[in-house]
Amino acid sequence: MKTHAKVVVIGGGVVGCSVLYHLAKGGWKDALLLERSELTSGSTWHAAGGMHTINGDPNVAKLQQYTIDLYKEIEDLSGQATGVHLTGGVMLAATQERLDWMKGIVAKGRYLGIEADLISPEEAHDIMPLLDPSYFVGAVKTVVDGHLDPSGVTHAYAKSARKLGASIETHCKVEALERRPDGWLVRTDKGDVIAEHVVNAGGLWAREVGRMVGLELPVLAMEHMYLITEDMPEVAEANAMTGGEVIHAIDFDGELYLRQERGGMLMGTYEKAGKPWSPRTTPWEFGHELLQPDIDRIAPSLEVGFEHFPAFQTAGIKQIINGPFTFAPDGNPLIGPVKGLPGFWCACGVMAGFSQGGGVGLALANWMIERDPGFDVFAMDVARFGDFATLAYTSAKVQENYARRFSIRFPNEELPAARPLKTTPIYDLLAGMGAQFGAAHGLEAALWYAPEGVSDRFSWRRSSDFDHVGAEARAVRDSVGVIEISGFAKYSVTGAGAAAWLDRMLACRIPARGRMALAPMLKADGRLIGDFTLARLAEEEFFIAGSGIAEDYHMRWFDQHLPGDGSVSVMAHGAGLVGLSIAGPNARRVLAKLADRDVSAQAFKFMDIARMDLGMAPALVGRVSFTGDLGYEIWMKPEYQRYIFTELMAAGAEFGIRPFGLRALNALRLEKNFGGWAREYRPVYTPYEADLGRFVALGKDADFIGKAAAADHKAEGGKMRLRAFVVQAKDADVIGDEPIWHDGAVVGWVTSGGYAHASQRSVAIGYVPRELAETDDGWQIELLGDRLAASLQRQPLFDANGSRMRA
Ligand SMILES: Cc1cc2nc3c(=O)[nH]c(=O)nc-3n(C[C@H](O)[C@H](O)[C@H](O)COP(=O)(O)OP(=O)(O)OC[C@H]3O[C@@H](n4cnc5c(N)ncnc54)[C@H](O)[C@@H]3O)c2cc1C
Repeated sequence: MKTHAKVVVIGGGVVGCSVLYHLAKGGWKDALLLERSELTSGSTWHAAGGMHTINGDPNVAKLQQYTIDLYKEIEDLSGQATGVHLTGGVMLAATQERLDWMKGIVAKGRYLGIEADLISPEEAHDIMPLLDPSYFVGAVKTVVDGHLDPSGVTHAYAKSARKLGASIETHCKVEALERRPDGWLVRTDKGDVIAEHVVNAGGLWAREVGRMVGLELPVLAMEHMYLITEDMPEVAEANAMTGGEVIHAIDFDGELYLRQERGGMLMGTYEKAGKPWSPRTTPWEFGHELLQPDIDRIAPSLEVGFEHFPAFQTAGIKQIINGPFTFAPDGNPLIGPVKGLPGFWCACGVMAGFSQGGGVGLALANWMIERDPGFDVFAMDVARFGDFATLAYTSAKVQENYARRFSIRFPNEELPAARPLKTTPIYDLLAGMGAQFGAAHGLEAALWYAPEGVSDRFSWRRSSDFDHVGAEARAVRDSVGVIEISGFAKYSVTGAGAAAWLDRMLACRIPARGRMALAPMLKADGRLIGDFTLARLAEEEFFIAGSGIAEDYHMRWFDQHLPGDGSVSVMAHGAGLVGLSIAGPNARRVLAKLADRDVSAQAFKFMDIARMDLGMAPALVGRVSFTGDLGYEIWMKPEYQRYIFTELMAAGAEFGIRPFGLRALNALRLEKNFGGWAREYRPVYTPYEADLGRFVALGKDADFIGKAAAADHKAEGGKMRLRAFVVQAKDADVIGDEPIWHDGAVVGWVTSGGYAHASQRSVAIGYVPRELAETDDGWQIELLGDRLAASLQRQPLFDANGSRMRA
């Protein structure tokens, strides 16, 4: 066995083999895969082998499409059959809500290039004769769907990788990992290997491999069952009638998937009462084994299946497979580098290895070789979870996710498992005022305030919160409102080299003492990797506020770029620093009643920041607000938050101060055309596309990361432009990921939207081609199957010249 390699990939399941193939293809031929048994010895060998392109997240859908397209390439290269059957598929809706959801899927497919068409239940029956159309209200026909041979695919990756120069050592268990100055010492039962990089593709044992480096990965295996029938005459008839195999079907409301398996059928289910497998540790002795089937657990789903697909009622059951496979709390993979562990990479938690394995391999190999995944992979990034994702949290979320695998998640639906976990000191005060909470990055945040007896009615359309969110938004515009902003990420950057380091990390000019600046952060390719508010508190002391869900993601980036001499330190405050914001024309009056300093318009200007006491409590106050109104962000230690909140409410009483939640904040920022991280601003857009070009200081002396590439982007112009639209909506508003049409063709996509209550307009923000970006006419936005007229909004609906914000 080799004793040195550039990279060691741990695990020879479909994911590890795909990573190895992509590394070798990308030029890292000195790559060694270590497998403790035979290839496919984890969850891979007993997979049902289904594959499809549809995914709720468009970025994951793109990588699924790539995966399926790849099978021909690896089959040709390796000479190993992959057993791919591209049968096409049908997704079935038994309710109107499901059909509405499917309309969104079809619409998204239009700009992703995924072919999918809405069809009637009868048309569904014509292409999948085993279903009873009377149970359904509609369906979607998909083209790129089917099944394959899991072992064939894995070996095709492995053989292709070998052909390109990579090595594989089976029956070689990695027992320990030790960090060395020059990389990793990989201790195996066949001897040691020194490697610059290590990839954890341990699948069912990903947690154990993580623990070798002190990492507790949020991964849990669930038992999963599918049955295979004896040959069925109805299958033979269907084959004769359609001239092909019975196509792949997903019956969402039955929570079932099915496909032909030889002369019979395979039916699998994500049952409600899902069962975790080996919740704390995965036994090393577990091999090519199956678990004992538990038919009672899946009986309720099967009963529905046998009704919806009556031929099953008389079919003999040949086999029930029960095997474990892993999930992360949100069901998406965990890939990427890990903060504080240079050269250690994750490629685990992949629950749909045959739809996603190729994309995971490509993105990870790009990331390792090019230092950038080359795609927008935030939905799969291991850094999207923080320390809140403990074993117990993961267990609760994975079980919820498994049970809801085929459930609709409405845009206004907050999932209940593992909550409340992180709360701030005013949680119960807000709850007492009717706050309806959602959780982001584990932290509870008020979404809106409901009167007694009212709560969210889940819907694709405007719902029970609409009028109340409207009242909150109007209260801000008319007088003053208060919102908790503890969910923002907050960082302190200090040390003798802080200013110089930030000048290189951020594309903006570094503000003067006591001032703030909007601060885009770029990657080497000149695209966005962050957008922050940067504040200078002293010569070498800075405070940064940014997206809460990206705190670990950004800390990893900061950490990777810190100078080794200790001259700069970055600290993420997490819930150790909490916040409140007041906004509206009376916000200054409220602040003035509490502040121990002059906060008049002249003394405390827009984008000023200062430490001050509010009543008896010390706070950091910045004059900025995401509402686009006169407003202030107030940061304090948690122990002062109740006091400051109570004082603000008392001081604001004479102005009718009202708490408002994140939904009203969304309504307010929309009418200012303000974008946000993870929606408008993502790592695939340049600042010029994202309308942040004015904050990029190409003229500053510092050679900030991405400067040269940004200059090129500016000169070249880029492909897309971020634009705002007013939509002629009726009873529903866009939420994001809807297609934008122009003159009868899909040309762009919505990144976010909603109803701007104070302006009384339905708003969409999204990307359109640069050459159309100044065109006024011909726009439509597709929502719930309708193409709604939309007008380009050149100016913000509210306070176009910013006079309120600067007042
Ligand atoms: C019943 C069932 C049906 C499924 N149906 C489908 C489907 O239809 N479509 C689909 O896309 N997915 C399906 N899946 C999921 C699919 O199987 C997984 O997504 C996929 O197998 C994950 O592959 P992996 O490589 O990440 O992990 P694994 O297959 O678990 O591979 C990990 C490998 O790492 C090795 N390893 C671990 N630790 C070490 C170590 N320390 N040293 C050396 N080697 C190590 C293991 O021996 C193993 O071979 C199904 C799963 C089950 C159980």
